[in-house]
Amino acid sequence: MTTPVYQNFINGHFVANQSGETFAVKNPATDAVIYHVEVADEFIQQQAIASAKQGFAIWSAMTAVERSRILLKAVTLLRERNDELAKIEVLDTGKPWQEAECVDVQTGADVIEYFAGLAPAQVGQQQMVGDDFYYTRKEPLGICAGIGAWNYPLQIACWKSGPALAAGNAFIFKPSEETPLGAIKLAEIYIEAGVPAGVFNVVQGAAEVGQWLTQSSAIDKVSFTGEVGTGKKVVASAAGSLKDVTMELGGKSPLLVFDDADISQAVSAAMLGNFYTQGEICTNCTRIYVHKNVYQQFIDELKTRTEKNIIAGDPLDAKVNFGALISKKHQQLVMSYIEKGLSEGATLLTGGKELSPDSAPHGYFVAPTVFTDCTDEMTIVKEEIFGPVMSVLVFDDEDDVIHRANDTHLGLAAGVFSKDIKRAHRVIHQLQAGICWINSYGNSPAEMPVGGYKQSGIGRENGIETLDHYTQTKSIYVGMSNIESPF
Ligand code: NDP
Repeated sequence: MTTPVYQNFINGHFVANQSGETFAVKNPATDAVIYHVEVADEFIQQQAIASAKQGFAIWSAMTAVERSRILLKAVTLLRERNDELAKIEVLDTGKPWQEAECVDVQTGADVIEYFAGLAPAQVGQQQMVGDDFYYTRKEPLGICAGIGAWNYPLQIACWKSGPALAAGNAFIFKPSEETPLGAIKLAEIYIEAGVPAGVFNVVQGAAEVGQWLTQSSAIDKVSFTGEVGTGKKVVASAAGSLKDVTMELGGKSPLLVFDDADISQAVSAAMLGNFYTQGEICTNCTRIYVHKNVYQQFIDELKTRTEKNIIAGDPLDAKVNFGALISKKHQQLVMSYIEKGLSEGATLLTGGKELSPDSAPHGYFVAPTVFTDCTDEMTIVKEEIFGPVMSVLVFDDEDDVIHRANDTHLGLAAGVFSKDIKRAHRVIHQLQAGICWINSYGNSPAEMPVGGYKQSGIGRENGIETLDHYTQTKSIYVGMSNIESPF
């Protein structure tokens, strides 16, 4: 059976490359090639820039209300096609249908809807300066680029393009080579909704295509989601043309469980924050610090629920709640971290092996894994694994655990479980992280800004402030009196 071949999406339609180069995309749950994609060669890259320039001229000249109406149509189409799009995400990423069906498309649509609503509310300022005055305009940046990771491909494309388009920019998006289809579907939906051709373009390929986007002097901003190491390369490359950057990078986030916490709730948060999307979520609380008075109770319940309630298997089966990792290579990387955990002396509470479920025997599964007796120096406690591997540590002093939680170069997220509201706020205010939860973990509504402290990121996505990251302020001074000149 021949598989489909998808081309790059430029100026409102699919465009063939000239090199003929393609790459294959596999379903992580079956190891089967499901389609091929043409690489964005130099011809496509030139077309993408020319298309975005044309698109920008049309789109930025429209009123914010006009843009908003069109984007809201795209939101309606996204929601109407939820199941078709969710299935694409399941096949590309290996995540369970029961997640994709209610999260991936919906949270993407929510963010476009949020920024479509905000776009017409963006206003400049006016201030008198004596008899003269100045006013400011919020103008779009021009052509923005997005580079996405593979864990939430469609959602990332929506989260980046939503505010960018609402503010009047044109966009060129490069999805991860592992998950390229969702962004193409979004491009088709934008066109169907009435977004002018050229405003949203999709270019395909691996690091070289990403590098071109970061280097191109025709591009005014790059919004990147991916690993810290790649993010540093992107910032360095973007510096060549002094592009604006937004960086959504990795984390090694702490969850602090105090002895007055609702332990069942804390276990729920720990499991969601390590096993949802089979552990491939940037904000995951992979370091769980549990107070010594409740440590045994916590790990007993965690072990029971992990072994009883997690169902790995064919991700399209609605009963399955735990999917396959993105690739064989990533599965092996996660397994190598598990081996390091064992060799450095952590106790394996549960998991620690590859899985081969009957309904998906060739998938890249790793069992939900919990290590206890972890110490701060262990590799599994220090490095982002991006898989279903939880490290549990014990503490007995508030100040000490805050210090330990902050002792990392990363600062994406953090959480606190405690019924003492004074303590919960006192502690969370001292944690060095951009996305924090109290008695909750992982929720990320469109209204709430998200982004990292320290090496976990630059700038924010979502929330009102993100529109500022996609606009620039023009100040206009207006002289009302004669100029006084010494010349
Ligand atoms: P990578 O950094 O490997 O890749 C991210 C994207 O960058 C991909 O599209 C990749 O292309 C591209 N790329 C690779 N090298 C370059 C380069 N030199 N210049 C420009 N682009 C490049 O991340 P992963 O895809 O492996 O995603 C996992 C990581 O993403 C984790 O660290 C995770 O924490 C982080 N992440 C952060 C989020 C956040 O919001 N903070 C959300 C989701 C994930 P290709 O893959 O096609 O080679």
